[in-house]
Amino acid sequence: MSHFHLRDGVTHCEDVPLPEIARAVGTPVFVYSANAMRAQARALRQALSSLDDPLIAYAVKANPNIAVLTTLAAEGLGADVVSGGEYKRARAAGIPTDRIVFSGVGKTAGEMRQALAGGLCQFNLESFVEAEMLSQVASAMGRTAPVAIRVNPDVDAGTHAKISTGAAHNKFGIPIGDTPAVCAALRSLPGVELRGLAVHIGSQLTSLAPLEKAIARLGSMIAQLRSEGHRIRVADLGGGLGVQYDPALPPPPSPGDYGAMVTRLTRGWDVRLIFEPGRLIVGNAGLLLTEVIRIKPGPKYPFVIVDAAMNDLMRPTLYDAWHEIQAVAPRGEEMTADVVGPVCESGDMFAVSRTMDRVEAGDLVAIRTAGAYAATMSNTYNSRALAPEVLVDGSDWALVRPRRDDEAFLADERVPDWLGRAPR
Ligand SMILES: *Cc1c(COP(=O)(O)O)cnc(C)c1O
Repeated sequence: MSHFHLRDGVTHCEDVPLPEIARAVGTPVFVYSANAMRAQARALRQALSSLDDPLIAYAVKANPNIAVLTTLAAEGLGADVVSGGEYKRARAAGIPTDRIVFSGVGKTAGEMRQALAGGLCQFNLESFVEAEMLSQVASAMGRTAPVAIRVNPDVDAGTHAKISTGAAHNKFGIPIGDTPAVCAALRSLPGVELRGLAVHIGSQLTSLAPLEKAIARLGSMIAQLRSEGHRIRVADLGGGLGVQYDPALPPPPSPGDYGAMVTRLTRGWDVRLIFEPGRLIVGNAGLLLTEVIRIKPGPKYPFVIVDAAMNDLMRPTLYDAWHEIQAVAPRGEEMTADVVGPVCESGDMFAVSRTMDRVEAGDLVAIRTAGAYAATMSNTYNSRALAPEVLVDGSDWALVRPRRDDEAFLADERVPDWLGRAPR
């Protein structure tokens, strides 16, 4: 069951009518369902239940709100972090350090030091030069850093180019063919201990085939490394499983399909498996609630101008992403329109030639599947406020990030004395 549903003609998140939230905190606002996140976390855990002690490390970058992290920490999830800031958030949410994986192609010495001092499960390294830096940092601290090597398996993830990470030309990972040489060289580096391999080929994957190919290549490489005398104890299979944005398209593989595939392919590997799901956990647990400012006539279809924009939800502009758009209180009539924001960019569009619920100025509209890679990518372009975030749990709801408006940003900025004049 979706945790966003119509009740008495009005869309609710769990037991809370969306207009109540809009009235209280204004629009645009991100609304998250805690129970939708929990349901996804449980579905994945269930799908992986025949594995021996898997670690599900939620990819924090998908939605780093501290209330979201706290919800997922309570489900026993760990964290996959890609910056010192995300590491701090994971710790603040109470995620145990032995469930924190540090990924990313550009970790700094400072971030390495921070995670080593605080504790973590492992660093996923993406180059030998990165391993050399970690070796120096860890040695200077008298520590040994547990590491996995992220391999680039050279598979086409079959998703949007900007969210594909596992092809040879992408910046991520070590070319899989170079892995034996890199692992051999790691032996001579003090302060780092090779624990295993990692892979992550991209996001919003709608087919298991590229994942299967990547996992199979990882399995062969694990066997080869063992034959060369390395002790391989973990295999991190990354994230990437897609969620359904468009209900008219076939659904992506379910957690159950994914779990069955992984269980079959990794049988006999004798490793601890790590997973890094992001979008799968939170994507459909959120929506962006916005109000129609006005309807402007257009050459072919009207423009529905809403008070959310590309600065709040970049995915359509950045990835040509399709998001379902619904009236919060549908009239049972349809219209075809372009749904756009107020930002001064032609790319500021949420939908083009979309047949959708008929809406009028003042209506509330829900832009669905905005739980992942949405609020976290928001910015203040056009001096727009940062939209607030609300978490719903049954009939409870709370503001988990207040709106940050121009007053706050203006207060942060300074006019240097040598400009000779204070702002009026
Ligand atoms: C972004 C990312 C993930 C999560 O990807 P999803 O598609 O959201 O599951 C996992 N691992 C790494 C290394 C990532 O960069």
